[in-house]
Amino acid sequence: MKIRNRLNPSNPCFSFEFFPPKTDEGVANLFKTLEDLAPLQPGFVSVTYGAGGSTRDRTVELVTRIKQETGIEAMAHLTCVGHTKDELRELLRRLQDAKLENVLALRGDPPQGQKEFVPEPGGFRYASELVQFIREEDFNFSIGGACYPEGHVETLSRDDDLRHLKAKVDAGLDFVVTQLFFDNAFFFDFVERARRAGINVPIVPGIMPITNYEQIQRFTRMCGATVPMRLALQLERVKDQPDALVQLGVAHATVQCMELLSRGVPGIHFYTLNKSPATRMIVSALRART
Ligand code: FAD
Repeated sequence: MKIRNRLNPSNPCFSFEFFPPKTDEGVANLFKTLEDLAPLQPGFVSVTYGAGGSTRDRTVELVTRIKQETGIEAMAHLTCVGHTKDELRELLRRLQDAKLENVLALRGDPPQGQKEFVPEPGGFRYASELVQFIREEDFNFSIGGACYPEGHVETLSRDDDLRHLKAKVDAGLDFVVTQLFFDNAFFFDFVERARRAGINVPIVPGIMPITNYEQIQRFTRMCGATVPMRLALQLERVKDQPDALVQLGVAHATVQCMELLSRGVPGIHFYTLNKSPATRMIVSALRART
């Protein structure tokens, strides 16, 4: 199933993102998580692409296994980091041979310890170049890309970022998935600006339920998402009470999702961090209301 055909405001698609575990035990746990989430009938799941090493192969293996063993549509993320065109072509071939129909085409972050993204010789500098390459090579994927309601961390201005996104979409994207955000106002404003700029593909909001205080501080620092002041104060109050923190995180994400759905989003992508309970609670609540 091509994801572009599944994104529809009148029947929104819930999707779940996982990362490739480093160990076999982690992989077994991931399949347990998938089993827990399968009854929620995800439109698709996706598996991220690591910065290097063995987890990169695991992405291709996992999406292949997930699709074959569970029947759930699985999308691989792919980045330009450390790859030549030939290597990317080979990876795309493996995905196509495994009958996978969707790919999330990304530039990737600079490797740890490196401030700036440096393209691999014979590789790509921007995700838009990878998107164009996939189209030119005649692969038959539905292609997704990343976008940033609060602006990408490296960008000098949100207008520049939007212009670059428009070029990326024009290179051949079918849909985009947003970076996580905790304040829907950023998303609605972004969608409005994107539509005005002529970006007409489905824009899928990415939601991360907060379940761990330190983790969310780290993620927001890395990706530039802001936590609204009121939520930050509430989190501060319960940061040493794990159950209360999860309850707050789930409640906040549920309210966010309800508003997003009421405003006609085509789907919601959940950053699960390979854990099922928070996402299960939120999606169960959302399904109960429709
Ligand atoms: P690009 O679209 O290339 O943009 C990168 C920067 O370059 C932006 O600041 C943009 O404004 C600028 N830019 C683009 N084109 C031009 C141009 N022509 N001239 C000048 N500047 C330009 N990372 C991983 O490593 N693995 C993953 O699996 C992964 N999954 C992700 C999933 C989602 C939904 C999201 C939102 C992000 C994900 N990331 C992942 C993070 C992502 O790789 C980083 O945010 C990365 O820094 C940018 O990737 P991009 O594809 O958005 O890059």
